[in-house]
Amino acid sequence: MVVGVLVQIASSNVDKIFDYLVPDKYISSIKIGIRVLVPFGSQKVEGFVLEIKDSSDVSLKEIYDIVDQDIVLNEEMLELGKKLKEETLATLISTYQVMLPKALKAKAGVNVNKKFHTYYKLMDKDYVGSSVPQKKILEKFLEKDEIAREELVLISSSALSTLVNKNVLLPIVKEDYRVKYEVLDDDRKILTLEQQEVVDKVLVGDYSKPYLLFGVTGSGKTEVYMHIIEDVLKRGKTAIMLVPEISLTPQMVEQFTNRFGNQVAALHSALSEGEKYDEWRRIARGEANIVIGARSAVFAPLKNIGIIIMDEEHSDSYKQSDKSPRYHARDVAIKRGKYHACPVLLGSATPSLESMARAEKGVYQLLTLKNRVNGKVLPDVFVVDMNRESKNSSSHLTRQLLEEVNKTIEKGEQVILFLNRRGFSTFVTCKNCGEVIKCPHCDITLTYHKSSHMLRCHYCGYATGLPKVCPSCKNEALSDLGVGTEKIEEELHNLLPNARVLRMDIDTTSRKGAHKKMIKAFRNHEYDILLGTQIVAKGLDFPLVTLVGVINADTSLNIPDFRSSENTFSLLSQVAGRSGRSEKSGKVLIQTFNPDHYAIRYVEHHDYLGFYKEEMKVRRNLGYPPYYYLCYVKISGKDMKLLGNEANKIKRSLERNLKNTKILGPTPLPIFKINNIYRYGIILKYKKEDKLKDILEKIIKHYQSNTKIRIDIDFNPSHFS
Ligand code: ADP
Ligand code: ZN
Repeated sequence: MVVGVLVQIASSNVDKIFDYLVPDKYISSIKIGIRVLVPFGSQKVEGFVLEIKDSSDVSLKEIYDIVDQDIVLNEEMLELGKKLKEETLATLISTYQVMLPKALKAKAGVNVNKKFHTYYKLMDKDYVGSSVPQKKILEKFLEKDEIAREELVLISSSALSTLVNKNVLLPIVKEDYRVKYEVLDDDRKILTLEQQEVVDKVLVGDYSKPYLLFGVTGSGKTEVYMHIIEDVLKRGKTAIMLVPEISLTPQMVEQFTNRFGNQVAALHSALSEGEKYDEWRRIARGEANIVIGARSAVFAPLKNIGIIIMDEEHSDSYKQSDKSPRYHARDVAIKRGKYHACPVLLGSATPSLESMARAEKGVYQLLTLKNRVNGKVLPDVFVVDMNRESKNSSSHLTRQLLEEVNKTIEKGEQVILFLNRRGFSTFVTCKNCGEVIKCPHCDITLTYHKSSHMLRCHYCGYATGLPKVCPSCKNEALSDLGVGTEKIEEELHNLLPNARVLRMDIDTTSRKGAHKKMIKAFRNHEYDILLGTQIVAKGLDFPLVTLVGVINADTSLNIPDFRSSENTFSLLSQVAGRSGRSEKSGKVLIQTFNPDHYAIRYVEHHDYLGFYKEEMKVRRNLGYPPYYYLCYVKISGKDMKLLGNEANKIKRSLERNLKNTKILGPTPLPIFKINNIYRYGIILKYKKEDKLKDILEKIIKHYQSNTKIRIDIDFNPSHFS
């Protein structure tokens, strides 16, 4: 027997199948999708068996060993990996590795052991025990069928072994999973008519087209998801529930485990590698039926999937941008939906432009939740024009916002203050008038390069020196500084000394469990104000919060990206949605230097569709998605001169071969140099370009063994960085 093996080496040079001979003793254990240990050059490496052949070519090397008896890559995953490779131009091995927990990847440097525990079962129910310790041990079995060894040896280890020798107790060894869930009271709701209608439509199970659920904040999307999953489980099927960042959505995980208990497996970044591996095996063995997790949970090895749900489908965290394979979880979800013939449900209060455009065209099926549950209205949004604030005040909190905060606290209600810190704060802004310096050709914020004191456009390459005074108000007040939460916290302490402020950001939540504790404390009204960055923007549901204040709406507007308006609109809508979720009506105050910007105006009126229409016009005029596809070619290397030359060569070769594509660049990436490696980007815009993949593959191949130049391809990039 001969097997075709894909070795776990991350290099496109060896990304192909190598044949090995199988010694007789292993033949019966060989299956497609298991891991084997093989000689490779002078090394021993792990690989996946992808083919089994009837050959006995004795010149081949033999496999050393079989790593695990169980299949780690099933038929569905094997196929999915091949498709991902084709679509993203990643190596095949990287597509398989992204599906598996680190513990199953060779050379990951994690040593994960399975944990085993001994339990005892009562076999002879009539035996009464011949000593006090024996009787005490037997009494325990009145309450439970199986009892852990630890518990029984506390009574008496000799009595325990006597009972085992007499065959009264039977020891059983069980693998222990490290993650334990607490099942609390469930709070299952009766659906509103609007919610029920959505559930019914999805349960019809039309899997030919994904569903897009457009539901305003507070419309009870989570409850809809849970009802759908409940039904799917009743039919003996399984479910995937995707969330943007699971560490930011502890409330969602809690709701799910409260309702579904141990059927839930939560895959999140706070788990250790061992815990992740445990969860993965529970899923693979069919011991968990619901997987809840972020991007990579879309690969969960569930069988017989009945629904795949993606909450906050607009979130760019669903796209893996920083490494290969550069895939979007939405695309993978749709592929898996086809394979399992199950519906895919994408949900959001602010769907991505791409998804809404598809729904408009009928590629997706649109479902809508227009109302908040129980007839609660959306909060009133007020825009505070920072241009009118007194110029000499150094405070980031306007008088208007402070007054509202004060009033709210006096009523015994709570406040969320949001500091927008998305992306880099490397744009230059005028502290006096709020002017932000933009590219004259692209309507995109120029990025400040500290080292050269230059402002650059990352789309077209336009560059200019840093002006001494603000071009708009002529004051010497240009600054590239961003504000931090600590600064705001200090201001709050000075201005509202009696308010109890809880600061939540990356610093204060980095310890395991800290985030959850803070949420609990705020919910218990131990604090009046929750102050935070993006971490407080999503998913939180606090009944006492009736005021949300956005301290600086403009930050995300000024990121040099064609998606900055969309991201700002959706972020502000999400934050605004935290206010007034219970009987009490809510208010939102947005501080901004751009009160007339359409992204802000449409938030003011809770008008997603208005925003969508206006932004679609902008995209069409500038030739961006969803009107054009984008592909980002990144070229990096240590030798800046060589890199520049090669980047230009690549551009020329693309120009020669692609007749239906607009080619922009090469321009330096926003962070031009990282670890002494320089980076250039070429942006490709196209509607239809049949030759694109071929020519890109040729370029990849050409540089494959060139150690000085590295090529990365990102289709449908979520940002240019
Ligand atoms: P969304 O995700 O759409 O913003 P949530 O799922 O967080 O909204 O729901 C908002 C609130 O409404 C939650 O407190 C939830 O428990 C509650 N809720 C949802 N559905 C119902 C219902 N049918 N009846 C009563 N309360 C509901
Ligand atoms: Zn430009």
